[in-house]
Amino acid sequence: MDMPDILLEIEREVRPHFGRGKVASYIPGLKRVPPDKFGMVVRMVDGGEYGVGQFTEPFSIQSISKLPMLMLAMSMMGEEIWRFVGKEPSGSAFNSLVQLEYEKGVPRNPFVNAGALVVLDAVMANTQGKASQVMLDYLRVLSQNFAIDYDRKVAASELRTGHRNAAIANLLRAHGRIRQAPDTLLEAYCLQCSLEMSCLDLARALLPLANSGVSPLLEEAVLTDRQTRRINALMMTCGMYDSVGSFAFRVGLPAKSGVGGGIVAVVPRHCCLVVWSPELDRSGNSLVGTAALELFARMTKLSIL
Ligand code: GLU
Repeated sequence: MDMPDILLEIEREVRPHFGRGKVASYIPGLKRVPPDKFGMVVRMVDGGEYGVGQFTEPFSIQSISKLPMLMLAMSMMGEEIWRFVGKEPSGSAFNSLVQLEYEKGVPRNPFVNAGALVVLDAVMANTQGKASQVMLDYLRVLSQNFAIDYDRKVAASELRTGHRNAAIANLLRAHGRIRQAPDTLLEAYCLQCSLEMSCLDLARALLPLANSGVSPLLEEAVLTDRQTRRINALMMTCGMYDSVGSFAFRVGLPAKSGVGGGIVAVVPRHCCLVVWSPELDRSGNSLVGTAALELFARMTKLSIL
């Protein structure tokens, strides 16, 4: 089967899974998204690009934004970033406070919220506070879509209701782990998470992760090969909330999900895959998206395991 047929078959086979998950509602701005959306893109490093469903429709990338912010931090600070954040899976929820307190304010990894706040704080310190604009410009160039933007309503609704993230930011500050004031950092974090991109935008922008750090669109390195392998290792061990083990079991690819229902997965040296479907499973990962990636790995045997 060739790639367009594989995608059509996946779209057909995932249909029975609709209605089994729940659209995220704890961020008020997200709960209006129709639950039955589905889009998927496969972007090969050698140029092939295949999409199915609503793959050009922008959605809230939420925690997927932790990837480009980490890419920026690594390219600005190199190894220095690991002085601020760990590299181990957390085994607890992405917004857990307990572990952070036990471990004296050093977040387990860059993909739990505490870790993402520390990474953002570092990028803010390196950009005179302009991290949100720097990330937007970075992704506009990498995706070659200069129309992508933040959804300020979604950001404002999260800022109003994100009491747990506020507690995390305050705890980080109490332990002396961040330099920005908690309120400033939280505002930038909610904006970062509110970015809207389509499956196609994300697959193009994050393709360097499948290509040793080089963007095939720009013919330019945005990360070193070593940095790229490190990010992929972190995605493999920490990218899917606390069901990262069962995701590896089912799919076998480094991936990062967001509560907007997006998942980005990387097949090193082959392709970047992005799937979007808003209904989430109990761990907060797209239920239909995970099923689609499992089918993809099974049908193409493109899995690192
Ligand atoms: N903005 C969301 C939060 O901090 C992102 C969560 C996610 O996508 O995992 O709760």
